Amino acid sequence: MQNQEQLENLNKKWTTECECELRKTATQAVPGDGSANAEIVFIGEAPGRSEDKEGKPFVGAAGKFLDEMLSEINLKREDIFITNIVKYRPPNNRDPLPEEKASCREWLLEELKIISPKLIVFLGRHALNNFFPDLQIGGTHGKLLIKKFKDISTKYFLPLYHPAAALYDGSMREILMEDFKKIPKVLKEIAKRG
Ligand code: URA
Repeated sequence: MQNQEQLENLNKKWTTECECELRKTATQAVPGDGSANAEIVFIGEAPGRSEDKEGKPFVGAAGKFLDEMLSEINLKREDIFITNIVKYRPPNNRDPLPEEKASCREWLLEELKIISPKLIVFLGRHALNNFFPDLQIGGTHGKLLIKKFKDISTKYFLPLYHPAAALYDGSMREILMEDFKKIPKVLKEIAKRG
């Protein structure tokens, strides 16, 4: 079965089976979106108001900024896959709770297993800490992390600041843009390492 079809089946299964409490308050599930054969998967935190309405990740202001950064490195949304650690909007965009992250974790891991990207980019601390609970975004942003996890084949991870946090903060915006521009070099480095 092609990756795209596998992802569609996965989303059908989890939109009926996911036991996340956020289902009760969200309009709909927001599964990952983009190329099912992407080399890079971006992982954000949780859908916001626009994403909840449209059922697609990163379609609001943070998504527009992300598109700008992607175009700086000659990539489009269709070239990558983008998803979130929780698939339902938390009320008033509050941080997702540990049990909400846990309920949606299997859905995320299965997306990663199907796509099996070369590189996973964490957008913000929530995504980073979902896989590396002891690391801080301030000390690791822009640095390539290498780790073998039991459930996923990808072993290369790049933490970045969240685009929403950098949107209205000039200096953070610059740091994020500089970190983002490292992505092509990081991909070359990964290809060399194999
Ligand atoms: N912020 C996120 O982390 N995810 C989205 O989908 C939108 C904004």
